[in-house]
Amino acid sequence: MPQQLDHLPEGLLETDSRGLDALLGAPTLIHLPGAREPALFVSVLMHGNEPVGWDAVRALLAERIARFGEPLLPRALSLFIGNVSAAASGVRHLPGQPDYNRVWPGSEAPVSREHEVMAAVVRTMTERGCFASIDLHNNTGSNPHYACVNRLDNRFLHLATLFGRTVVYFLRPTGVQSMAMAALCPSITLECGKVGEETGVRHARDLIDAALHLAEIPDHPVAPHDIDLFHTVARMQIPDAASFGFPPDTADLVLNPEIEHFNFRELPPGTALGRVNGAPGRAGLPLEVRDEGGLDVTERYFGLEGGELRLRQSVMPSMLTRNQVVIRQDCLGYLMERYNDHVPRRD
Ligand SMILES: [Zn+2]
Repeated sequence: MPQQLDHLPEGLLETDSRGLDALLGAPTLIHLPGAREPALFVSVLMHGNEPVGWDAVRALLAERIARFGEPLLPRALSLFIGNVSAAASGVRHLPGQPDYNRVWPGSEAPVSREHEVMAAVVRTMTERGCFASIDLHNNTGSNPHYACVNRLDNRFLHLATLFGRTVVYFLRPTGVQSMAMAALCPSITLECGKVGEETGVRHARDLIDAALHLAEIPDHPVAPHDIDLFHTVARMQIPDAASFGFPPDTADLVLNPEIEHFNFRELPPGTALGRVNGAPGRAGLPLEVRDEGGLDVTERYFGLEGGELRLRQSVMPSMLTRNQVVIRQDCLGYLMERYNDHVPRRD
């Protein structure tokens, strides 16, 4: 079980993400009362080096306490503060820990103690009831702020478009918070830009505030002009056996230093992601692309041409990053296609 509290511990809101471990000592679920039930569920710090969610929540709560002397929330709030020990070190997860956003019910990752914690959180919220769920993240590449959903359900899309018009639908990776919570209530993941950007914290804070004030989440279709829906069709990884870097490095794969600018742009066939000097392990390419079913689709999307790793068809990448630790620990990025045809319509 995670640690559970029904109040804000003394000094919590003054504590930044690095200090939470000293104060809480474990993943913690905090239930705060509000005028309406059931609670809005908000999770922060699934990744220890992504403080935007915590900074948004504590800003919102501190403002309300300054105004009213207590949070006096318009709706109950259940706040799950995740990987505090990784946050203390400013890393996504500690060595030996699983990724906290891959171990929720539905996970295909090897079973760990953390699977039990997340399952207990979902059980608790199932018993208490849940209005909606929001999981907050920073990312590393140059991306717009956007929301992710794992179901093409009007209520999920309404909640997502409260954050912005860019919405990504994905079914992989599994074991993510938003997919597990989708069984209980409308559920979204928010990608709020890079760490340290004040606009990301403000945008996240405003979305949580808006969700707390909602009496209900509309079930009618989202107007097509209010949404740009994308579907994640594949995930790109550099095999462990292949070395990679950026110019002037000479590795198996020397990535284009401009890759972050490719995010959320429709790229034409022939676009080069990098120069290939070697491809140990796999069939000719130092890259592995897998579709939602886990199937290897590398050659559908990429080919080797003039020593360059080039796109074979038009796609839109997301989450491409120059951060080499993230590339190794998570992935190089995702490939998406436009999906507006799949937004539910009025019959
Ligand atoms: Zn994250």
